Amino acid sequence: MSDVELSGVRKILDLASKVKDPIDFSIGRPDFDVPQPLKDDAKYWIEEGYNKYTVSRGDTLLIEKIQEYLKKKNMIFEDVIATVGVAGGLTLVFTALVNPGDEVIFPDPYYLNYYYMTKLMGGVPIFINTYPDFRLKVEEIEKLITKKTKFIIINSPNNPTGQVYTRGELETVVEIARKHDLLIISDDVYERFIYDDMATPFIGQMYEKTIILNGFSKSWAMTGWRLGYVAGPKEFIAKVIPIQQYFYSCPPSFAQRVGVKALDYDISNYIADYKRKRDLIYNGLKYKYNVAKPQGAFYIFPEAPEKDGEKFVEKALINNVFIIPGRVFSQRATHFRISFAVPDEIIARGVEILNRLV
Ligand code: PLP
Repeated sequence: MSDVELSGVRKILDLASKVKDPIDFSIGRPDFDVPQPLKDDAKYWIEEGYNKYTVSRGDTLLIEKIQEYLKKKNMIFEDVIATVGVAGGLTLVFTALVNPGDEVIFPDPYYLNYYYMTKLMGGVPIFINTYPDFRLKVEEIEKLITKKTKFIIINSPNNPTGQVYTRGELETVVEIARKHDLLIISDDVYERFIYDDMATPFIGQMYEKTIILNGFSKSWAMTGWRLGYVAGPKEFIAKVIPIQQYFYSCPPSFAQRVGVKALDYDISNYIADYKRKRDLIYNGLKYKYNVAKPQGAFYIFPEAPEKDGEKFVEKALINNVFIIPGRVFSQRATHFRISFAVPDEIIARGVEILNRLV
């Protein structure tokens, strides 16, 4: 536990909540609310008595709906479990698979759960260096594999860089995993937040030893309802059902019913909105900052002036702009993360201030 700290994102969010009218680029959650028909559906199921435990694997209606959805997307999987968000899915994956001393490979910068879940299990995080453009480089991955490697995690669209990997990049990872007979964990939680090439593939469409994680927090803004799922080999899902039982019992029951409807609920108008926000923030910062253009998710990860993310975050804080230091997501402290899931007017004000601080 001595290696496990409170998330650096929460610390900044706590600070921002104490300030009047902050320009808050800190937290990764959509700025829209759960769409009204889904809220109405939640009320309906609560009134119908969907307030009790479900079976640990999840309500059959939802499981069948997720299976149908994944098949439609040409995902290769055998079975599914509904989880307590993607975070709950990650807990199952790490608890089931990572023993002390096992090595877990993932790109740096990374979603911080991967780092801390590895640490919690006594595992060893192994980083694929993706600086400065945050693309996946084959030669970087192959040399990291050892006898202790447990799995590789791929998160595309990516938090915190906003990068979406190309078919070529993903095929290379699959080739390496196949050669060494490794599992790949594919965190697809930003699946719908893709702005340029909507035909981008997912690892789960290419490789049978993939464990697919996804959820409802980002696409339908249900962050507080805690619903996600894990799909993968039958044997693996069978093993994690009892883990879910002892950790969580089950995901929230009413939310599982709403999930059935959500998977058919079109959010393309929100995605069009977020594409505009992506353009606003990228075009606003690109002249003053070294920054890779995000193709997905709702984050941008610029290099800080003087490559000092910590100092720059403090400077921004004094100017009422809340950003997250890059070291929260990385072994390097040279960058900072902006979540652009905020109103356009906040982006405009934030860009103006950040450009003044360079
Ligand atoms: N995976 C990534 C890459 C994320 O960025 C997040 C949330 O920020 C999650 C998983 C957690 O999602 P959930 O709310 O479904 O637990």
